[in-house]
Amino acid sequence: MSETKTTMAEPVHLSLPADLPKPAKGCRVCAALDTQRTEALERGDFSAATDANVELAAHPKTGSHHRTGRK
Ligand SMILES: [Zn+2]
Repeated sequence: MSETKTTMAEPVHLSLPADLPKPAKGCRVCAALDTQRTEALERGDFSAATDANVELAAHPKTGSHHRTGRK
């Protein structure tokens, strides 16, 4: 006898949202946060990765982006 499986399990997604905040070009703080996030994910530290995400998302509002501006 054989069983036929007609359904497949959905792939399990990690706890991070798909729309991760992206570092702004030319912003060292954003770049550092991006690195922090990557390193945190690599060691499985999702708490630290989430923290970096929050800071990265907030930095355009609270950081120095307005000064660097565009030319
Ligand atoms: Zn920034």
